[in-house]
Amino acid sequence: MKLAYCLSPRCGKLYSYWFFLFMDKESNCESIEIIADEISEQEKAVMKTMGLPSHFSSSKKYDKSKKKQQQHGKVKKSLCKYWHQRYRLFSRFDQGIKLDKESWYSVTPEMIALHIASRCVKDDNYRVIMDPFCGVGGNIIQFASFSKNVFIIASDIDPKKVSMAKHNASIYDVSHRIAFMVGDFFNIIKTIKIHVDCIFLSPPWGGPDYLKQDNYSLSSMTPDGFNIYNAAKKYITPNIAFLLPRNIDRDDLNSLLQPGEFIEIEQNLINDKPKTVTAYFGDLAKQDLLQS
Ligand code: ADP
Repeated sequence: MKLAYCLSPRCGKLYSYWFFLFMDKESNCESIEIIADEISEQEKAVMKTMGLPSHFSSSKKYDKSKKKQQQHGKVKKSLCKYWHQRYRLFSRFDQGIKLDKESWYSVTPEMIALHIASRCVKDDNYRVIMDPFCGVGGNIIQFASFSKNVFIIASDIDPKKVSMAKHNASIYDVSHRIAFMVGDFFNIIKTIKIHVDCIFLSPPWGGPDYLKQDNYSLSSMTPDGFNIYNAAKKYITPNIAFLLPRNIDRDDLNSLLQPGEFIEIEQNLINDKPKTVTAYFGDLAKQDLLQS
């Protein structure tokens, strides 16, 4: 693993590039073949939630002459990538992790979630972190695992996701330090009365289509990313970690800054490939690196 920083010529902006240099044995989807006999009942159940047949092959042995099979093949190919990355999403996947179909595409890979946790937790002091788009819990698990002195407020608009997040957190033995709530972000933030040290924002990017734009605008999100940032800063804390698509418009991010404020933009890579961007604001941005 290697960490490198580079300063933007524009004052107040710091880019840090974070590289994962480990090899991923499971990345070549084209060569994967799964035979029903080789997979467990639990795996079959999870594959069903992904719309995968319990027996499928994405290898070149696949018979392309039959139209129905061809259509089937297309579905397999797009989904098998996610299935083969299951341990990248949750290292304890086999212990009964629950995911709905949407979450296969949107959960933060565990190594990236762990890194973001290290940035948000910082030291062993007591710390409250809020994750108001917690989904099935990929990030909250890493926040809570990082230090026993961390307490998490986790919420999501979808009750099923909150229920799965609670279940998944219990697999990592951290659910007792997480308060779970169901509700819309803009309503929930107005109900929080305790001091929150930092807020982690991972709102919907609009599914895999977000990559079709050259420069993904914050306003393409639903709810609007500008409104999310401003509301989090107003009602919760200016110490914000914002998980964003890798093609996020950097000018949009710059425009969030008030005079004297800093942003650190970090690119998160796996196997040298950019996966996500995390923007850090407030005391999460590493200002000391700007001055050195
Ligand atoms: P993506 O578009 O990146 O796949 P998702 O649709 O999975 O993202 O959304 C991320 C999470 O945010 C989901 O768990 C979803 O239920 C949740 N979410 C969406 N809108 C809101 C909202 N207004 N308030 C709180 N959570 C929300």
